[in-house]
Amino acid sequence: MKTAILGGGLTGVTLAHLLSKQGEDILVLEQDSHIGGLCKSITTDGFTFDIGGSHIIFSRDQEVLSFMHQVLEENRGERKRDTKIFYKNRYIKYPFENGLSELPKEDCFVCLNEFIRTLVAHEKGELKDPKNFSEWIYRTFGKGIAEAYLVPYNEKIWNYPLDQISAHWVEGRVPRPPVEDIIKAAVGVETEGYAHQAVFSYPVTGGIEALIEAIARPVSDRIRTGFTVTDIQKTGDGWEISNGTETIRADRLISTLPLQILQSCLSDLPEKVSTAISDLKYNSIVCVGIGMNGQTLPFSWMYIPEKEGTAANRISFPSNFSTEVAPDGCSSILAEITYNAGDQIDQMSDAEVVRETINALATAGILDPDQVRSALSVRHRFAYVVYDLAWQQNMKIIKEHFSSANISLVGRFSQFEYLNMDGVIRSVFDFVRSS
Ligand SMILES: Cc1cc2nc3c(=O)[nH]c(=O)nc-3n(C[C@H](O)[C@H](O)[C@H](O)COP(=O)(O)OP(=O)(O)OC[C@H]3O[C@@H](n4cnc5c(N)ncnc54)[C@H](O)[C@@H]3O)c2cc1C
Repeated sequence: MKTAILGGGLTGVTLAHLLSKQGEDILVLEQDSHIGGLCKSITTDGFTFDIGGSHIIFSRDQEVLSFMHQVLEENRGERKRDTKIFYKNRYIKYPFENGLSELPKEDCFVCLNEFIRTLVAHEKGELKDPKNFSEWIYRTFGKGIAEAYLVPYNEKIWNYPLDQISAHWVEGRVPRPPVEDIIKAAVGVETEGYAHQAVFSYPVTGGIEALIEAIARPVSDRIRTGFTVTDIQKTGDGWEISNGTETIRADRLISTLPLQILQSCLSDLPEKVSTAISDLKYNSIVCVGIGMNGQTLPFSWMYIPEKEGTAANRISFPSNFSTEVAPDGCSSILAEITYNAGDQIDQMSDAEVVRETINALATAGILDPDQVRSALSVRHRFAYVVYDLAWQQNMKIIKEHFSSANISLVGRFSQFEYLNMDGVIRSVFDFVRSS
């Protein structure tokens, strides 16, 4: 029995690795000339950038974490997180609620006071369950933290109205701190939030793509790159998968492709399913890599909630993850900007995005333009799933259809969920065990 795996990102190569270990005959079909998807890295002028956004290895899931650590072997480095939020020209400790004492005093008071007022109202049963993400933020953190950080930052990254985003996915992902920690943070007693990420791993060489390469190594002869799936037909006892010039036959089909791409390959989708897929929301990303002479800030990454200045919601400092990703005496920054078709960023050329990013970071005092010796930008159409209010209803229709059509959906944009690398590897483990 031959299994075709559509897409050679992290999900596709992990499926291939595990299924072939079980003795299955598999073939991965990837459109790009390289595997990796969002986890691709490129090296230019001696600087290695993760061009699908900055990636670090962390997880609460010990089995998945061990898998990632084991495949990397000696190429695994470890770093202590030192992350900041850029707020009113200050570098505030992350998560924001753990850095309250670093805010201007009046802002610290407003954040603490509003947090406690909200907590009291919650304890008295005066707050209704949040109907959307915006309400969840206000009712969990209070108006102070909401308006200083969480609302502007989330508006920037999602590029979608927060009151049109569902609240069902947030629990456990956006840190919800104990009140003692907030009070400690406000009076300046050191606390650590989001502790499972306080120490993270990163490949010593090769950027995050080294993880993908390591997972793919045992099955490299079963991966076909440069094969863009354009058409999928059900035959009597299997599938025919075509790129327009060549057709591959398989008994079983697993798709890790974004649902919108899978939709375009299937000519006979029921209208209800097609409408549900078309109605799903997502955003795109442009990543700007900047290679510099000399040193940069000593941080891991930094969130930038303010809308004035750079359009980037986050910048990271890859050369602080591993010294091997920049030439000696150099450092690097990777800026992430989300956007949607037709908006201002979409209409800017890549050169304009790079120029504006460098200028804005220079104005903010984060870099000196004279340091810059290399810069690039790369776009990805599918970056983040946006959980709009119709997501649950649409996904029910989609999942039911593909389950009855015998097309397995595994992966970030195939399951259409906000899955980090550990989440997609967990999905693959569960899928392989149940198949
Ligand atoms: C900005 C950003 C930062 C992130 N940071 C982290 C982090 O720090 N830690 C973490 O754990 N996770 C992080 N993630 C999440 C991580 O990138 C994803 O969980 C993971 O890469 C998803 O892998 P995938 O294989 O499911 O999807 P993709 O990587 O999207 O793979 C899909 C593959 O399908 C291919 N494809 C598409 N169309 C076709 C076609 N027609 N024919 C053939 N092939 C096709 C694509 O080329 C691609 O290779 C981040 C994500 C983003 C966007």
